[in-house]
Amino acid sequence: MDHFTLKNGVLHAEDVPLDAIAAAVGTPVYVYSRATLTRHARVFRDALSILPSVHIAFAVKSNPNLAVLKLLGREGYGADVVSAGEMARALAAGMPAGDIVFSGVGKTGPELAAGVEAGIGQFNLESEEEGIELAAIAAARGATATAALRVNPDVEAGTHAKISTGKAENKFGVPYDRAAEIFARLDGLEGLSMRGLAVHIGSQIGNLEPLRAAFGKMGELMRDLRAQGFTVSHMDLGGGLGVPYREGESFPSPSDYAAMVAGATQGWDVTLMFEPGRVIVGNAGVLVTQVVRVKRGIEHPFVVVDAAMNDLARPALYDAWHDFVAVHPTGERITANIVGPICETSDTFAMARDIDAVQPGDLAVFRTAGAYGATMANTYNSRSLVPEVMVDQDRWAVVADRIEPATILAAERVPDWLD
Ligand SMILES: *Cc1c(COP(=O)(O)O)cnc(C)c1O
Repeated sequence: MDHFTLKNGVLHAEDVPLDAIAAAVGTPVYVYSRATLTRHARVFRDALSILPSVHIAFAVKSNPNLAVLKLLGREGYGADVVSAGEMARALAAGMPAGDIVFSGVGKTGPELAAGVEAGIGQFNLESEEEGIELAAIAAARGATATAALRVNPDVEAGTHAKISTGKAENKFGVPYDRAAEIFARLDGLEGLSMRGLAVHIGSQIGNLEPLRAAFGKMGELMRDLRAQGFTVSHMDLGGGLGVPYREGESFPSPSDYAAMVAGATQGWDVTLMFEPGRVIVGNAGVLVTQVVRVKRGIEHPFVVVDAAMNDLARPALYDAWHDFVAVHPTGERITANIVGPICETSDTFAMARDIDAVQPGDLAVFRTAGAYGATMANTYNSRSLVPEVMVDQDRWAVVADRIEPATILAAERVPDWLD
């Protein structure tokens, strides 16, 4: 459920008509609903409350906006970060360092050191090599880094290949069959305290069975380690729960997910950690765009909008679907191709799509744009970096400015030997 609904024929975010935001801020612009974010955060947290001991770390990469992190921190969420930049955001939002999990396959030495100095709650190690480096960095500072070992369980998540992470050939984690041996080697190192295992098999997962299979394998590994005398107090089960992108699509609910987890982890006697991203923020945002032109096509017209693949990359990257709806729908429908202005064929949002009839100058939105939307934006074709707005009932605020091409140009230099 979200709070983007038609009121008096105009699409609103909560109580704010989207045309008012477009008039004030311009387009394209991301708009988030505070009520939706809060609702999703609470639904997920409440669903997991059937489990004995839980820590939830929001996957910052899905939406790193400072205001979003502030809201989630207030709801008791920690953060799952994958770079020093994301760590700095979570800390700037007031999240306690101890509630932050540092993930990522390529943490650099300086990033590991920054994490140790900040007192990060848990490093999720992606390799034996990384563990050895982290131990040395912590020991040199007289500190002990707390860590879990990310394991690649070799299961098929059943999602798009580019967002699958748990197959043996993917770059993430250590191979399942070598995990116990690597855990044992890292556990003895000065500067490192190994407390658990981590797994994350992919994103936009719509079937709970691959997750259940992965958690089952992790449980066996945990029992194996305990039998060898190691302490395993934390099991990080990652994120990945999918959300509906098309009207009428249905996905497992947070309570279906929690029930599956409860079954799969029965008797584990650990703190379970979760790293949800998309399920919290996906349906809490839309990308508002204006129709630039409607161009005649061979079979269908091209609706050229002012948003592009640099603002919302998912369709170009993953062939993702985003519902497209008019801000002032007339009831009339057309079949059209929806494209952005960028000089790439992949700058295509939809082909032969049945949509609200729109005219040049009309406003429309791409729905379900709160996750992996603004966070992936770039300035390709020397376009602006897209701004973000948060709505709270009848008030709203710009929570990220539009960065104009002139600002980016001002950071570039021509060396005097070219002048
Ligand atoms: C991206 C990522 C997540 C979040 O995935 P969602 O599908 O957005 O829930 C969680 N954990 C790790 C390690 C990730 O890389």
